Amino acid sequence: MNSAGIVTMSYIAATVLFILALGGLSNPETARRGNWYGIAGMAIALLATILGVVTQQYVTLIVALLIGGSIGLILARRVQMTQMPELVAILHSLVGLAAVMVGFASFMDPSAHFEGVEHTIHNIEVYLGILIGAVTFSGSVIAFGKLSARISGTPLTLPGRHLFNLGLLIAAIWFGREFVLQAAAGGGLEPLIIMTVIALIFGIHMVMAIGGADMPVVVSMLNSYSGWAAAATGFMLSNDLLIVTGALVGSSGAILSYIMCRAMNRKFLAVIAGGFGTGGGTVASVGGEQQGEVVPIDAQETAALLAGAREVMIVPGYGMAVAQAQHIVYEITRALRDSKVNVRFGIHPVAGRMPGHMNVLLAEAKVPYDIVFEMDEVNEDFPNVDVSIVIGANDIVNPSAQEEPDSPIAGMPVLEVWKGKTTIVLKRSMATGYAGVQNPLFFKENTRMLFGDAKDSLDAVFKAL
Ligand code: NDP
Repeated sequence: MNSAGIVTMSYIAATVLFILALGGLSNPETARRGNWYGIAGMAIALLATILGVVTQQYVTLIVALLIGGSIGLILARRVQMTQMPELVAILHSLVGLAAVMVGFASFMDPSAHFEGVEHTIHNIEVYLGILIGAVTFSGSVIAFGKLSARISGTPLTLPGRHLFNLGLLIAAIWFGREFVLQAAAGGGLEPLIIMTVIALIFGIHMVMAIGGADMPVVVSMLNSYSGWAAAATGFMLSNDLLIVTGALVGSSGAILSYIMCRAMNRKFLAVIAGGFGTGGGTVASVGGEQQGEVVPIDAQETAALLAGAREVMIVPGYGMAVAQAQHIVYEITRALRDSKVNVRFGIHPVAGRMPGHMNVLLAEAKVPYDIVFEMDEVNEDFPNVDVSIVIGANDIVNPSAQEEPDSPIAGMPVLEVWKGKTTIVLKRSMATGYAGVQNPLFFKENTRMLFGDAKDSLDAVFKAL
C-alpha cells in the first residue's frame, strides 16, 4: 500500500474510533472507555496527518507541537474542576481562531492553483470558514468572560438589537458576493477582512445578549459552532478526517443544544434572541420582599434527620463543585445506605456550569451510577421523600420557575424538592444563583438552611452521623 493509502486507512480507523468514543460518552458506565477510544483515534489521526500529508518542515512542526502541547499540559494540570466550563469555552475559541487563520492562509497561499468553478467553490469555502470561525472565536471569548465572571451575566439588550443582527447578516451576505466576484479577478482581501470584523461583532453581540440562565444552551451551541468551524477548515485544507470530525462535533453539539433547550423549556431561537435570566451571584434583597422567615439548622440536627429518614434525595448544584464536597457526600451516602436508608441523587440537566457537570463529580467520587437519576426520573417521587439535601444548588430548585409567570426563569422545569417532607439547603449565604433570581424555597415552612461551605457542613454532618 502506498503512503496515501495508509493515510486513508488511518483516517477511516480514526473516524470509527471517534464514533465509538461518542457512543461511549453517552453513558456514565461506558464514558471511560469512550474517552480511550477518543484518545486512540486522535493519536492515529495526528500521526497519520503529521507523517503523511501536512508538511516537509518537521522542525517547525515539532517546535509548534511542543509549545502547544506544553501549554495544554500545564493548563490541564492547573485547572480546577470549577474552571472547566470556562476552559472549554476558551478552547472553543481557539478552534474558531484556527479556522479564521487557515482561511486567510488558504486564500493568500501563492502555491494554490484553482481554476474556474473549483476556484469559486474554494473561495466560498474560505468565506464560510472564516465567517463561522470568527463568530465562534468572539462568541466563545465572551462566553469565557461570562462563565468566569469577568463579564457580567446580565443580558445586553440594546434597543433594536434584532434589526442590528439582521443588518449584520445582510452585510455578511453582501460582502460574500463582493468577495467571490473580486476573488475571481485576483482580489477580494478587502471584503474578506470587512466580513471578518462583522462576524466578530456578531459573535460578541450574540453572546452578550444572552442572560445568565441561558448560558448552558450557549455553551453547547458554541461547542457545535466549533465543530462546524473545524469542518470548514477541513474543506479548505481538503482534509477528509477534519471534515468528518468537525461534522461529528457540530452535530453532537447541536443535539446537546436541543437537549439543553428542552431541559429548560426554551425555544432555541428565543435563546439566541437573548434576554433570559438577569445575572449571577448577587445578594438577594431579602428584606425588601418579605418572603418570610428563614429557619436555620445545624449539623447535629441534620444528621439526626438523615438518620431517622427512610428516603433521602440528594440534589447537588454548582456549590458542590465549588466546595469540592462530592467525596464527603459519598461518605455520607455510604453510611446512610449501610443503615438501610434509601439514598438517591436527583440531577438537573443544567446543574453546575456545564452539561454533565454533576455526573462527572459524582463519578469522580465513585458514587454508584444506579443511584444517580435524571430530574424526570425522580421529580414525581418527592412526596415520598423524607429528607432532600440541596447541596449548593439554587436555580434548579427554585419554585418561582413554576409559580411566578414574570420570573426570568419562568417555565424552566425544576426539581420539586419542596414537595418532600423536609428540605435542607446547604449554602453560605442568602445570595442568589447564576440566574440572579430570588428563591422562595428558602422561606418555605418545611425548608431548613444549613449555612456554611458545603464541604465543611457535610464534614460536620458526617462526624455527627
Ligand atoms: P446556582 O448557580 O443557581 O446556585 C449555586 C449556589 O451554590 C449558590 O446560590 C451559592 O450560594 C452556592 N454555593 C456556592 N459556593 C458554595 C460553597 N462553597 N458551599 C455551599 N454553597 C455554595 O447553581 P445550580 O447548579 O442550582 O444551577 C445552575 C445555574 O447555572 C443555572 O442557572 C444554569 O442555567 C446556569 N448554567 C449552567 C450551565 C450548564 O451547562 N450546566 C452553564 C452555564 C450556566 P452561596 O453563595 O450563598 O453559597
